[in-house]
Amino acid sequence: TERTLMLIKPDGVKRAKVGEIIRRIENKGYQIVDIKMIRPTESLLNLHYSEHVGKPYYPSLVNYMMSGPVVVMIGEGTNVISGWRTLMGETNPTKAAPGTIRGDLGREWDGEAMMNIVHGSDSVTSAKREIGLWFD
Ligand code: ATP
Ligand code: MG
Repeated sequence: TERTLMLIKPDGVKRAKVGEIIRRIENKGYQIVDIKMIRPTESLLNLHYSEHVGKPYYPSLVNYMMSGPVVVMIGEGTNVISGWRTLMGETNPTKAAPGTIRGDLGREWDGEAMMNIVHGSDSVTSAKREIGLWFD
């Protein structure tokens, strides 16, 4: 069994999709083993998104992620890292397939940043790193 970091980004919270997203996680059979709501600081985001620092969209990404509270969760289950990314759909919500969270619920851009509702770690290594960052 694996663990992964799941975020509901500010657009998901503002648009009142928290219940809908948690319903999908629970229906799939993943367990939420920890949950909290915080407003991320710029220094946390610089660590979380370290591979994106310096990209043209990075200032917009930080602005978007600091635009409101974020729901932070640890999800647990068999193959939850890749399974949660399948539930999320691809990064660009315009291209994400119907039936996925981003495909069904995402649409907008905030400047150059895609507003795509949710985040999930992309590997065992990044899951460990990100859980450590968001849950000291
Ligand atoms: P996340 O890491 O948020 O789960 P992801 O793994 O699907 O999403 P990444 O490539 O890690 O996508 O990008 C992190 C975030 O940066 C994206 O969710 C998106 O908000 C933003 N982003 C990434 N690439 C671009 C881009 N080319 N233009 C605008 N925003 C982008
Ligand atoms: Mg990513």
